[in-house]
Amino acid sequence: MSSSTVITNIATLITNDPSLSGTDPLGTVRNAAVVIEGDRVVWTGGASKAPATDNRVDADGRAVIPGFVDSHSHLVFAGDRTEEFHARMSGRPYGAGGIRTTVAATRAATDAELEANLTRYLREALRQGTTTFETKSGYGLTVEDEARALRIAAAHTDEVTFLGAHVVPPELADDPAAYVALVTGEMLDACAPHARWIDVFCEKGAFDGDQARAILTAGRAKGLHPRVHANQLTYGPGVRLAVELDAASADHCTHLTDADVDALAHGDTVATLLPGAEFSTRAQWPDARRLLDAGVTVALSTDCNPGSSFTSSMPFCVALAVRDMGMTPDEALWSATAGGARALRREDVGRLAPGAYADLAVLDAPSHVHLAYRPGVPLVTEVWRRGVRVAWPKA
Ligand SMILES: [Zn+2]
Repeated sequence: MSSSTVITNIATLITNDPSLSGTDPLGTVRNAAVVIEGDRVVWTGGASKAPATDNRVDADGRAVIPGFVDSHSHLVFAGDRTEEFHARMSGRPYGAGGIRTTVAATRAATDAELEANLTRYLREALRQGTTTFETKSGYGLTVEDEARALRIAAAHTDEVTFLGAHVVPPELADDPAAYVALVTGEMLDACAPHARWIDVFCEKGAFDGDQARAILTAGRAKGLHPRVHANQLTYGPGVRLAVELDAASADHCTHLTDADVDALAHGDTVATLLPGAEFSTRAQWPDARRLLDAGVTVALSTDCNPGSSFTSSMPFCVALAVRDMGMTPDEALWSATAGGARALRREDVGRLAPGAYADLAVLDAPSHVHLAYRPGVPLVTEVWRRGVRVAWPKA
């Protein structure tokens, strides 16, 4: 039997287990303890009632939250788009190719370079409390380059998404139908074994509703589950298509009609909001309040990518959601943990309850509210993943 450890003297423990505290969705416990055995949580509750364990760790009056679940990132890439960001933030026009710039750099990179880049950003995210993450292909856009991106990602996470339908690559710009045929044919065959999910950028200038439907349906026939980049830049069919196809998540959801909100409220598709993208492009914020008031399940994620949202920080996204999107600190924390788990259709992460993975972050603060109250401050002082305390260099 594996040894047991209690983390005790926790000022505020967020479990996301409402059975502990009645109506509070965060399942908050004051003066709490968590007991871990192997890679799982086996007990949570008041510190004075904790069962005997082999080891004891003192949280010293700090807060403990479930590890963040970042359900949307694009981390298999090479190159850099500093100049594009610099120009955008300086009000200067910038002529280079956006996503296509990253595609060119990614195609030219070796496997080792892509993997080194990925692990660098994963370490960065872990350090900020992210213990589960999803990541996508989408910067290869050839059969070989998409398949290798997914192979590399799959060595680091179970939540891998085939996004061959990110944009039409430059070599097929004049024949998007041929690219859709490739994505739904040979590319899908090569990529499906390495992925759990299939995604489409359903947007003007990328893929329209009919193309997105064809791609997601083909993916589903190969055993992949859909998720959709939907309604980011303009109104469009993405959100309703996501709900219709029972996608786990519609991501962005910045421009929504009442019919879109209604569809989300009546389906099982999570609305994943990605405020790093609006922050980094000075765009209109998604209206989280409107979604929550309509009864939609909302997740928060980073969208970490080198073009439109180059942050791996879930605490930063929580702070933006509270300050600019109408979320309460409690709602934002839930969406960044349990909400992300819902967007990945997972029950074993995003909460600290018996049976769930022992994935948690210790905050140098008495409660999770400090994530928004003290924006930009590195409050995550300790991370446990799969029951193991993550070691990082002492400051
Ligand atoms: Zn994205």
